[in-house]
Amino acid sequence: MTQGLSPNWQGWLQDTLTARREQHLLRVKRPLQSPQGPLVQVEGRWLHNFCSNDYLGLANEPALAETLAHAARTLGVGAGAAGLVCGHHQAHEALAEELADWLGVESVLLFGNGYLANVGVLQALAGKGDAIFQDRLNHASLLDGGLASSAHHQRYVHGDVADLQRRLRDNPARRRLIVSDGVFSMDGDLAPLAELVHCAQQHDALLMLDEAHAFGVLGAQGRGSIDHLGLPANAVPLRIGTLGKAFGVYGAFAAGPKLLMDVLQQTTRTAIYTTALPAALAETTRHALRILRADDWRRERLQTLTAKLRSGLQAQGWTLMDSATPIQPIHMGSSERALALSAALVERGFWVGAIRPPTVPAGTARLRLTLSASHDDAALASLLLAMAELAPEFATEMTT
Ligand SMILES: *Cc1c(COP(=O)(O)O)cnc(C)c1O
Repeated sequence: MTQGLSPNWQGWLQDTLTARREQHLLRVKRPLQSPQGPLVQVEGRWLHNFCSNDYLGLANEPALAETLAHAARTLGVGAGAAGLVCGHHQAHEALAEELADWLGVESVLLFGNGYLANVGVLQALAGKGDAIFQDRLNHASLLDGGLASSAHHQRYVHGDVADLQRRLRDNPARRRLIVSDGVFSMDGDLAPLAELVHCAQQHDALLMLDEAHAFGVLGAQGRGSIDHLGLPANAVPLRIGTLGKAFGVYGAFAAGPKLLMDVLQQTTRTAIYTTALPAALAETTRHALRILRADDWRRERLQTLTAKLRSGLQAQGWTLMDSATPIQPIHMGSSERALALSAALVERGFWVGAIRPPTVPAGTARLRLTLSASHDDAALASLLLAMAELAPEFATEMTT
């Protein structure tokens, strides 16, 4: 069982797991026995799925599966090398051009995933003598990128541009970078983007926006936060998107001016020292992008579902966070309560994630409900029935 571990290592590893378990922080993976979708089979049971980021319902879209199968037959399975060696295919080139066209930017650089993109870009753009200012609730990959860079790294109060201004004023850094999620992944609220844009201009800072939960979901053709808020396409010079959420596929990209992307291609270690995405996946993502741009009904469906879910839960006495996106968290306080509510929902046939520290700050554990355009009215209605049953026990007192 311990397979060659020394007693010292074995003891530390065991203590790590025990501590997590005792604090209700142990995480477990539950293997799906069906494709990703609004209804998934887990441990032999079918559960209504309210915890994926498959916002547009593309992860199991039959037309995309056909494209992938065909592309695998014609383009092969693996890229075989890094993009700068010989793994970059014309399918990648076409995808990058089409993403740039969609967003109205000059250039797009592809990445293996969003985590790699965020860590690599921050490392590449900010070094010794530079400063990075991040919203306190930014995604872990952005925070890790800040720490991995040798820049001076600060976190400002969530959504508080006055706090950011204070920190920027008198900051002696050579170059400054402001970094924010567009839609906050665990809260569902939007960044104060117009103010951030203004603040960045005032302080000669480069604004980087992570649109993981906004692309595909917000704005005309799913162009994200900037479009949603009516700001010009060039208001934010650097945007990061993942292809694993609304796109339903896998991968990520950075979008912005050609000069910036050219430098990132030369200097971003997570884009250089890594195998390119499979060309077949790039080809499939081109198709996903066409669907994502065209299918307004998917975004409209999400808005309808979001409004129904919120009004239903509020009528039952649940306290919701200030979110107009398909991410609808319910604050529980303690990890134990969040887990208990999540377990009670599983018993009733619903899969909803309990999000606990360190993913969210201590004392702010929550149930994170997410909606997908693939949910039907019956699924939402039955979720609301289950939540009504649980409201007397969970919606009332809030212990931390
Ligand atoms: C999911 C997520 C990422 C990471 O993207 P992956 O492609 O899943 O690695 C980055 N930023 C935010 C805000 C996210 O929610």
